[in-house]
Amino acid sequence: MAGVIARTAATLARARPPFAASSLHTSSVRAADKLMPDPLDHATGLERKELEAIARGNDDPFMMKVLKRAAGTKDQPTLIPSFHAERLVGCVCHEDAFYINYMWLYKGEPKRCECGYWFKLTKAEDPFKFK
Ligand SMILES: [Zn+2]
Repeated sequence: MAGVIARTAATLARARPPFAASSLHTSSVRAADKLMPDPLDHATGLERKELEAIARGNDDPFMMKVLKRAAGTKDQPTLIPSFHAERLVGCVCHEDAFYINYMWLYKGEPKRCECGYWFKLTKAEDPFKFK
């Protein structure tokens, strides 16, 4: 049995050496002078809209960034943009808070958080609108 295994291994080793010249590929070297295509050329749908908005200078087209609180007084409330008549807002009331205080804001009704800051709903502009 050991003789059969040794003969088979020797036959396989002779038939195909592990580092033969035919196993080397040089296509990556030949393609080194070519550039990757622009992602905007291949993007469609929502991804394309996002890339176009970023190219126009809007780095947050889906309004996912955290808003910083303004002065927060009743006269100068933090303005929260919304496409709807209401929006759920989370306030990190204190810098060291371990929780977020959520509240509903309604159009035309400024609201005061438990921490004393005021918030007001404003109409959001279409981030994908061409100007
Ligand atoms: Zn708060």
